Amino acid sequence: MKIGAPKEVTEGEARVAMTPDSARQLQKLGYDCAVESGAGEKAGFTDAAYEAAGVEVIKTAAALWKAADIIVKVRPPNDTEAKRLTDGQTLISFFWPGQNEELLELVRSKNANAIAMDMVPRISRAQKMDALSSMANIAGYRAVIEAGNNFGRFFTGQVTAAGKVPPAKVLIIGAGVAGLAAIGTATSLGAITYAFDVRPEVAEQIESMGAEFVYLDFEDSNAQDGAATGGYAAPSSPEFREKQLEKFRELAPDVDIVISTALIPGRPAPVLWTKDMVEMMKPGSVIVDLAAERGGNCELTVPDEKIVTDNGVTIVGYTDFPSRMAAQSSTLYSTNIRHMLSDLTPDKDGKVNHNMEDDVIRGATVTHAGEITFPPPPPKVK
Ligand code: NAD
Repeated sequence: MKIGAPKEVTEGEARVAMTPDSARQLQKLGYDCAVESGAGEKAGFTDAAYEAAGVEVIKTAAALWKAADIIVKVRPPNDTEAKRLTDGQTLISFFWPGQNEELLELVRSKNANAIAMDMVPRISRAQKMDALSSMANIAGYRAVIEAGNNFGRFFTGQVTAAGKVPPAKVLIIGAGVAGLAAIGTATSLGAITYAFDVRPEVAEQIESMGAEFVYLDFEDSNAQDGAATGGYAAPSSPEFREKQLEKFRELAPDVDIVISTALIPGRPAPVLWTKDMVEMMKPGSVIVDLAAERGGNCELTVPDEKIVTDNGVTIVGYTDFPSRMAAQSSTLYSTNIRHMLSDLTPDKDGKVNHNMEDDVIRGATVTHAGEITFPPPPPKVK
């Protein structure tokens, strides 16, 4: 069978789902590989590099979609792309099936089998395919780099002949995958880092990475217990939220950089950094809002834009951080895809065995054999 990676069509998307290295590995599973000409260009992979890795370079998107039995891509297909799918073809990409019902129906009507990389169950065995985590890790790192780029000072404290420089103070809100990556990056640059999360179990992880966990003074014994099922956060009670905002108001005049990553599955991002907190911050401070795509954790965030407030605070609301590091994110994403294909090809014979009894494959499959198979049943194994 042939695996094909088209050029991404979403404006500004620089990632690609197959790199020359991942193609070499896919060939070891018995597959032929193809890319659309120019597919890897924005991520630094030339057509010549693909050819050197034994990959066929196909001139047009239409020809690529026609030639491949399996299409691998980053973004969910748009209408034109989905209409190109054919009976029995397999699509592997981000899909967001809960928000893309029409797309789901269109792909089903084409009798194509779609595997959503955003639906890979978060169980230990599937970590190597967890593209949400690999992209969140990059976003967390890049958020700190972006903050540094907009912050006119050092992160680390210094004593120089020209004077003493205090270290920057960075507050990370939300310590999931992206938040922990941001903590690691900020502390390694020498900042004093504070982090807050509603899930108390992350305190240890935060502290082991050199940041200080921000505790709330809350009477209730369930304080800071925002943990819900599956390790995700649940919405906070109004009393808890008030306490949290009170704490943030205390910190606002003192911190130089805020990186916010707080999300609750299936809901808009909670607003945790209000207008008055922005107004309390020092001029030159920076907020990077990684929750911008879901509305933002900061009240003043404008998704996809960078703004500077009247009091001189920069608020970065970009929603394409992984794409801003396209070489790295393509490398990790294509590796996640390669692992998915490895599980789909147990006999290494270049043929997909779409085993719906397998927890991971079942969980990620959103259309199969003419049926919509989303939402999946919960995985049997942790
Ligand atoms: P996420 O992107 O859904 O949310 C980011 C963080 O925001 C979470 O830590 C959440 O607790 C926090 N948050 C929500 N509301 C908040 C608020 N009001 N104030 C402060 N913080 C708030 O998280 P994620 O990175 O996808 O990780 C979610 C969970 O999944 C974690 O428990 C993580 O360890 C787990 N996980 C497991 C695996 C695996 O087992 N393979 C892989 C990745 C993540």
